[in-house]
This record gives sequence, C-alpha cells and structure tokens, in this order.
Amino acid sequence: MTASRRLLVSCALPYANGHLHIGHLVGYIQGDIFTRALRMAGHAVHFVCADDTHGTPIMLAAEKAGVTPEAFIAGIQASHERDFRDFHVAFDHYGSTNSASNRELTWKIYRALDAGGHIAKRSISQLYDPVKSMFLPDRYVKGDCPNCGSADQYGDNCEVCGATYAPTDLKNPRSVVSGATPELRDSEHYFFRLANFRALLEGLLDDPTFAGPGMRAKLGEWLTGELRDWDISRDAPYFGFEIPGVAGKYLYVWLDAPIGYLSAFKDYAAANPAALGGLAFDDFTDAARAPAAGTEMHHFIGKDIVNFHGLFWPAVLAGSGHRVPTSLHVNGYLTVDGAKMSKSRGTFISARSVLAQGINAEFLRYYFAAKSSGGIDDLDLNLDDFVARVNADLVGKLVNIASRAAGFVTSKFDGKLCAPPASAAEGTAFRALARGRLGAVIRAYDNRDFASVVRTAMDLSDQINQYWDQRKPWQLAKDEARRQELHEVCTHALLGFHSITVLLAPILPKLADDVARWFGVEHQAGGARRFAHVDDAPHSVKPYEHLMTRIDPKQIEALVEANKETLQPTAPPPAAKVAPAKAAPAADGPIGIEDFGKVDLRIARIVEAEAVPEADKLLRLKLDLGSEQRQVFAGIKSAYDPATLVGRLTVMVANLAPRKMRFGMSEGMVLAASDERGGPFLLAPDDGALPGMRVK
Ligand SMILES: [Zn+2]
Repeated sequence: MTASRRLLVSCALPYANGHLHIGHLVGYIQGDIFTRALRMAGHAVHFVCADDTHGTPIMLAAEKAGVTPEAFIAGIQASHERDFRDFHVAFDHYGSTNSASNRELTWKIYRALDAGGHIAKRSISQLYDPVKSMFLPDRYVKGDCPNCGSADQYGDNCEVCGATYAPTDLKNPRSVVSGATPELRDSEHYFFRLANFRALLEGLLDDPTFAGPGMRAKLGEWLTGELRDWDISRDAPYFGFEIPGVAGKYLYVWLDAPIGYLSAFKDYAAANPAALGGLAFDDFTDAARAPAAGTEMHHFIGKDIVNFHGLFWPAVLAGSGHRVPTSLHVNGYLTVDGAKMSKSRGTFISARSVLAQGINAEFLRYYFAAKSSGGIDDLDLNLDDFVARVNADLVGKLVNIASRAAGFVTSKFDGKLCAPPASAAEGTAFRALARGRLGAVIRAYDNRDFASVVRTAMDLSDQINQYWDQRKPWQLAKDEARRQELHEVCTHALLGFHSITVLLAPILPKLADDVARWFGVEHQAGGARRFAHVDDAPHSVKPYEHLMTRIDPKQIEALVEANKETLQPTAPPPAAKVAPAKAAPAADGPIGIEDFGKVDLRIARIVEAEAVPEADKLLRLKLDLGSEQRQVFAGIKSAYDPATLVGRLTVMVANLAPRKMRFGMSEGMVLAASDERGGPFLLAPDDGALPGMRVK
C-alpha cells in the first residue's frame, strides 16, 4: 500500500452564460471518477468547482434579459448544480467567482504580483462604442474583411478567407452591441509580465507529472517564442472585480477565474475545518508549506483552455507565493457521430435533455469512461454504438448476472447465499480474480485510463456469464438432489457480480449504491466505500428489482429531435424535394450494409417452449435476451419436440414490430433454415455466445 495522499482536485469552471451540454460533461465526469477512485483507494481528496461569472458576455446577456448580472448568474448556477447532481458529479463545494472570498484572494494575488514587479502599465488604442460608452472586445466589432472584403466578419479573424487582423484593420466597422461606428480611443491597461516566469515554465516542460506529452509539446511551442505581456485589465463598464485602488478599471475575467479553484476550496475548508484532516488551506496552496505537507493540486480542464492553465496560471501562482499545480489533466473535445456537435443536426445535446428523455445518467458516465484512456484525444459519442454498448455491456452482461441468479436465490433459498468456504473447489474464484486485478485497476484510475477498468470489468462479467451457461442452473433447478450445487452456482455468480460493481463504483456510483443496498451491505454505500470491499462476501439479497433497463433507440431519436435548433426554418435541402422515391430493392438484388444494419439480430435462450394446440405448425417460445424476455410464435412444430428446445441458444430478430396473433402477441422471430430438402432447422451460435449478444 502506498501512503495516503492528500489532493485538491478541481474541474474547469463552467461559464455562467448558458446551460451545460454533454461536451462539458466529459471533463466533469472524468474528474469525478478520478476523485471517487482515489478515495476508494484510501486517499484524502477534496473536490471543488465554481461558476465562472465575470466578463462582458455575461454583463450583456444579463442586460438583454433585463436582470442584474447577479440575478442572471444565480439562475444559471442553479441549473449547473442541478445537472452536476443528476449526473452524479459530486463536488465537496461548489462556489462562484463572484464571491467575497474570491474578491479577497484575487486582490491579494494582484497586490503580490504588483509588489513583485510583475505588473506593467501602458496606454493602448482600442475601438470604443460611443453610444454604449464602452470599449469593445474583438468579438464585439464586425465589419468588412481587410483582406478579401467579405462583409460581416468579426474583429479578430475572417471566417471566409481565414485572415487574422486587429479590429482596427476592419473596413466599415460597427459595434455588435449598438450598431454604432466605433471610434479609436486610448486607455491605460495593466499587464502581467509573463516573461518573468520563463525559467519556471521551462521547468514544467520537463515534468511528466505536470502534464501529458501532448500538453507539454504545446507548452514547448509557446516557449520557443517571445512570452508577451498579458493584458489583465478591462475598462468600465465591466462585470468583475475592480483593480484595487484604481477606479473604473477591472481585472480581466481570466485572471480571477482560476483563482476560483482556490477560493472555493478556502470556503470549503472554512466551513468544514475537520475535513482537511488536521491540515489547513495554506498546506495545499502555499509555496512554502505545500511541499512539507506533501499535498497535491490537480486540475481537470478541456484542451481549449490549456494556454490559461499551462502558461498564465502557474506563473500567477508562483508570482504570488503559491504552489504551482501538481498535474493538469486535459481532455479533448467531444464529437457526436464523428462530427463537431451541431445545433442543426440536433447533436449539440444539452445535459438536461439527456435526463429528460429518461436516459440513465450512468450510461453516459460509462460510455465516456469506456472511451477515456488518459490522453488528450477527442472523444466520439457514436449514438448507435452508445445504445448498443450500454445495452450489451451494462444490461446484457453485468446486470444480467444479478437478474438471472436472483430469481433462483429468492424463490429457492429465501434470499440467502451459501457460505463461500463450503464451495472451495471453485472457491471464491470470481472474488479472488477481482481482488487480483485490483492493483492494476487502481493504477488505471490514477492514470485516468478508465477504458482499461471497463475492459477488466467486462472480462470478469463474461467469465461469470460463461460459467453460468456451463453450469446450467435452470437444469439444476429441476433436480432436487442438486439443490446445493444450484445454491453454490448462484452464490458464486452473485458474489462475483458484487465484486465487479465495487471495481466500477467510481464510474457507476449509483449502481454501486443500489447493489450495496440490495446485498444489505449499506456500510459500503456512498463515501464510506473502499476498494477493500472488492472481495467481501455478503450473505443475502433482497427481492430483485431492476437495477438498469435498456435504452430504446427511440429515446435517442427523441433526444436528437429535442436538440434540433428551432430558431431557423428547417426546410429540407432542395434536392430532397425533387428526388424520386427510392424503389425497394428486389428480393435477390444487393442491399447496402445500412439496410442489413437495420435488422437487430440477437442471441436468445429458449427458456420455455410449448405447442399451441389450436395451430398445426406453431410453438410458443419464451426467449431470454439477457435483459428481458420475449414471447415468440415459431412455425417449427413439425421439426421439434418442445421439451428438447428448452435451454438452448438461438438467433432472433429483436426489432421486428410486435404482431398480435390469435394466441397472443408475437414479439420477434427466430431464425431457421429450410427448403424442399428439409427443415426447418433452427440456427444456433457457437459455444461462448451469450443471450443478448448482437449478431452482425
Ligand atoms: Zn476575408
């Protein structure tokens, strides 16, 4: 065991001008998984965040909404906190950069930088809106591109020809705020002298703990050039903190935003003095005290803000007597179906809309984890793959173990599991296996290689499902003499299931809590859970209730529909209006892979089979798909004795529209071969296939 570590962990502060979308959630979920895992490994982790509330965009948005900036940001913050709670992102403290503590700390840091000779002042010329009486940030000026003449381009670059320029270069400039023609005015600005920190930044370049190779390569690029002064002041009107002692001048939002990590932590420490385990705020943040205390400071951020966190933030911290971050954990962008999120396609998906469609928040956590290997690469949410993967992995493999074994244990053994030592032959194989993998799992969590944890968990799930299919408990259940054997098989499967949910608890905290309650081991729920519980052996289960249910692809269709931008008319492209209807392919003509892909073929186990007395050809089958059971009528009576079918695997069409028959609903179709030479012959998969697996 390594000694207990003490970490301050933060996630990038969401900007208080809008609701969270699923792209935001990637970094928050990664930070939350990391925090939970390190706690379960016995380390002390303090997890904080806050809303980032200052700047021109928020000032103008509040004005447009007809409310004060304070009222505006309060409404957004409530929405952010609700989304975090419902996606199980559990910060110890959630603050705001517009707080008294952040003002105090920001001023303290500014004064220290000034006293250290790190602030410069000089006059600059900037476009000014004479109607609105405000200086205009680059993005608030539009005009004709000085290079290609395209109209309606922003003040910093042209989206038509790609040229970059200063807003003063624009032809026919106008203020986006009032429409007025801006005029050039001089103003005194305050600058942070980044070049004073070149040696510090070069040191970070060689520190593999500070950031991954991609991030450090970026830092290296910046360091080959000149480290220019950073403009940290803005003129009134501005929503933010005034520069101490300078009326009408404000500190730029990007100076006080990361300080919000520290002030949120400070507020947390003040409200919960015992939570820091005998340490104080300064032990985590002070340059002199942090090394002696052995504390760490970790930031989870997106790759769009690496310059602020890789250059300015360490320099601001060092220049004001604070420690520099231990590690930056940078995540890439989220793409949906391989493309940038798009409002017109409906793939710019708000966090809230996922929940509104009844999609389990842990499904998104699982999918993001399964695609997170610790690097800076973009992460793709493929919507079809998302449905297939969570249905197959979480419902079809993992929860399936519990739902299959629970019925026997409840109905035959009064919910009791047998004592593990009584079954030493197979012994505690799955529990021991999980315990054996624990070291690698903890290392993977620490390296944010959550994909590796998911692979381990699914490998163990596969092994338990295979064991189950080999031991055929549905046959054991028919033989009273093999009652003990049945009990042991169920016990092994359920204890193995319990072990897997402990390994996955940082990713699926709600499932882990539900499972702990189901096994009656509530002491393992919530913040008290430790990885040491991985090979515990609970004694019983309560009656089974669904732990997770499948996503219906219709929920995804509805999700995309709900996120389609409705402000603009959405007429179909002209070509679609005139294109003739496509002819259906001839029965023996070629079809595209996308046509085949529409057929959802699944492995199913026949759990019941009986003749339909009123029909010459039909058998009524009950098919188990792992997560659910279906009734299907199959025309195979002439070839099969129903009793021989029970227990065997076959292939079914799972997405055939249900058909009402005289004898009941038929909810799918089984596949069988036949022609004039004989049949029907029922299809069966090779050994190893499990109910619910997709056939493709
Ligand atoms: Zn241009």
